[in-house]
This record gives sequence, structure tokens and C-alpha cells, in this order.
Amino acid sequence: MKIVRFISGKSQKAGIITNGEITEVSGDIFGDYRPSSRKYELKNVRLIAPCTPTKIVAVGLNYRDHAQELGMTVPPEPLLFLKPATSVIGPGDSIVYPRMSIRVDYEAELGVVIKKRAKNVEEKDSLDYILGYTCFNDVTARDLQSKDVQFTRSKGFDTFAPLGPWIVTDIDPGDLKIELRLNGKLKQSSRTSQLIFGIPRLVSFISRVMTLLPGDLIATGTPSGIGPMKIGDTVEVKIEGIGTLRNTVKDE
Ligand code: MG
Repeated sequence: MKIVRFISGKSQKAGIITNGEITEVSGDIFGDYRPSSRKYELKNVRLIAPCTPTKIVAVGLNYRDHAQELGMTVPPEPLLFLKPATSVIGPGDSIVYPRMSIRVDYEAELGVVIKKRAKNVEEKDSLDYILGYTCFNDVTARDLQSKDVQFTRSKGFDTFAPLGPWIVTDIDPGDLKIELRLNGKLKQSSRTSQLIFGIPRLVSFISRVMTLLPGDLIATGTPSGIGPMKIGDTVEVKIEGIGTLRNTVKDE
């Protein structure tokens, strides 16, 4: 099932996509909801971020090929950082290139959307806490990341967390192709089977640190091939079985 949020007229709505058509749903997409009789064509609405996380918990250095690329050893435990709720944008929105930075990078990532409140979850139960999966771009001001040591500024600018275009609930995330294209040119290509810490481990580990809430997002890390974007660029994250998240870069 594909869950979307979209704007029709002046209001935000949630829906389910089947065969290119959206069926609006009423109720809570994380709990009880019902399909309505209202249908929309995908091309006639504007999609927005498919969830509104209270926080994005991101994982650094979680692909074997990326750790090799950086010449770094595999970390003994997941390396976590946060991106604020205010950094979220949806499919088609613009990433704003901040004046404070002279190097802004893309990072294609698989996003895991939390379904229900999760605290001290066992790895074997973790799938019960996941609503589904989406494409994510962990936009990073690389120059500020090395300058600050802390990741708060480099990862936290408004618009630095594009996600979407929708949440897919019924895929196995264990071995999906993940790609990033910049202006149509392939820059990252890997598979989620390259993850150092898999999704059950991440849900369990993070839930022992902080309570995860419905709609929160875990950004599972990026494969090799990271690089810079310029103003005017179009960046696409494509994940097998999910779809393509497309954004452009604009000047502050
Ligand atoms: Mg990242």
C-alpha cells in the first residue's frame, strides 16, 4: 500500500494510491482510518511530505561501501544524530542553499516511518512499530560538518530533509536498490543489503535512547558516492519498490 499526503484546494489530506489514483482517507493514517468515496488523479494534486516527524533520527556511516570510501572503520554501535522537524520538505519542494555554506551535499537514504510509540523495543518486535518506508535525502553542509564537529548546524538547516513521495507499507526493505541522480547523472548506486546495522537493530537501539512517536523518521544512512550540489540542480533519490523523490536546489 502507498500512503500519500497531498493538497487539494486549500486543505491537506491523506490518501492511498492505487493504479495512479488517490483515494482520500478519513481518520488517522497511523491507526483507524477509512477510505472515502473521494478520488483524485495523482497529476492533479500537489504531494507534500507523507509524514510530519517530531524528529528525524539519522544514522551516520551505516553502509559498508561508504565506510570504505571514507577510509573509516565500521563503528561498533550505530552513530546517531538528529535533524529537526523544521528541516522537512516534500517531493518537488526546493532545497535552499544556505549562505553560511560553500558545500552542500546530497545523501540518498532509505527512510523508515514509525507507526506507533516505541520505547525499549526488542529487535524481534521492531516490525510491529514500522508503518513503512520512503525515500530520504540527508542534505548536509559538508564544510560546516567538519568545522563544527557537532552535526546540528550542518544537518539542520530548513529544507535539508526532503522526504517522499509516499510511504510504502508492504515491501521487504532488506535488499532494495538505492540510487541518486544529479541532473540525470547517476551518482550513488547501492543496495540496502549493504547496511551495517539493519532496520530491526536501529529501531531497537534508538528506542532504548529516545521514545519514537508515530510519524517519526529513521534515516538509515547513505551509500558511497556522496558529493556536492549547486544552485539550479535537480536531485533524485530512487529506491526500488518505493519510487523517486525529486527536488531542486535554489538560492537563499
Ligand atoms: Mg546521512
